[in-house]
Amino acid sequence: MHSLLNGLECRACCTQVPADRLVGVCPNCGHALLATYDLDAARSQLSPKRWRERPGGVWRYRELLPVGADGSIVTLGESESPAMRLGEPSSAPGIELWVKDDGRLPTGAFKAREMAVAISRAKELGASSVFLPSTGNAGIAAAAYGARAGLPVRVYLTDAAPRETAAAMRALGASVRTVRGTMTEAREAALEQEPGRGSVELSTMREPYRLEGTKTMGFELFDRFGAAGLPDAVVYPTGGGLGLVGMFKAFSELRALGWLERMPRLIAVQSEGCAPIVKALREGRARADPWPHPAEFAGGLTVPAPFSSERVLEAIRWSGGSGVAVPREAIRAAERAVARRLGIVTGEEGAATFAALSPLVRAGTVRPGERVLLYLTGAGFPAGLPRLAEQLTTSEPSPRG
Ligand SMILES: [Zn+2]
Repeated sequence: MHSLLNGLECRACCTQVPADRLVGVCPNCGHALLATYDLDAARSQLSPKRWRERPGGVWRYRELLPVGADGSIVTLGESESPAMRLGEPSSAPGIELWVKDDGRLPTGAFKAREMAVAISRAKELGASSVFLPSTGNAGIAAAAYGARAGLPVRVYLTDAAPRETAAAMRALGASVRTVRGTMTEAREAALEQEPGRGSVELSTMREPYRLEGTKTMGFELFDRFGAAGLPDAVVYPTGGGLGLVGMFKAFSELRALGWLERMPRLIAVQSEGCAPIVKALREGRARADPWPHPAEFAGGLTVPAPFSSERVLEAIRWSGGSGVAVPREAIRAAERAVARRLGIVTGEEGAATFAALSPLVRAGTVRPGERVLLYLTGAGFPAGLPRLAEQLTTSEPSPRG
């Protein structure tokens, strides 16, 4: 098994860049670079059956990931995240409802997929340290994989993140600077501090390899359901949108290999307090404008100016998907209901997909008879449980006895 990576390309200006050195964005136009693979070789060497004979998880898809040498792989034992069928929801009669729960991955979120691949590749290409702005989960994953790789990590953390988040990053050996504001301000702070340090930026879409980690979300869905049984729609909580671009890239590569004809419609869910992608979809625009006054809420959903939003919008549109924004009260209510009725402590991001179900049914975006999968991108632990407990004491009637 070896990587079939054969280069990097910019979709905006078609520039090709060699993949054998550390690189950030397109040197020509500043847009995101995407990894390309020798798919002819993949077609002759691989098959879905051969994949399924291997242990599940990120590295099952080794040939279509960018890490060259086996010895470069930095792993915390990423397993395949579970997909579970739920009962028919009262808010969506006739829908066959599934969840896929990335809260079970190392560090409790899909960010483990990204950082397993990005940190492995950064180390392989000789990075001496890495940095990123984060609302929480990406920083924790970078800290953990950085610790495993022996690579110093600096996180510029938005101040809305719960206190436990910074503590977890520091416990994992990362240095953390808390920045007032959103991801926009956190990145500005990073760009003031980092020049001259020889460090590698791991911001969403500003290096090519985190995206390759999110691709495994799509590969796992394909493995789990098969080409004929894939969900009709995948409902995905969207901040930076990397997961959508990753799943779209996975399904596109599977299609190029001749293994897949129809891909799921990708449906973005955002919070009404910060919904630049949904707004751009509604207005038919090719790129999202920065959201002017984002509400400080669900961390991973609050990305007012997603970088390379063109790729996110393209993934949604080309899959036949769409987007919906839901109010924060509905997200909070869904978080409580999902914990109490389903036993799943998901973050506000995951809860947003449940909150979106009813508006999606009303709009006819998902229809009775369809198989719909809600993607839970992370667990509500450790910050979620204390918050839920606090809400219980303030907003729930006590049981009568
Ligand atoms: Zn370019």
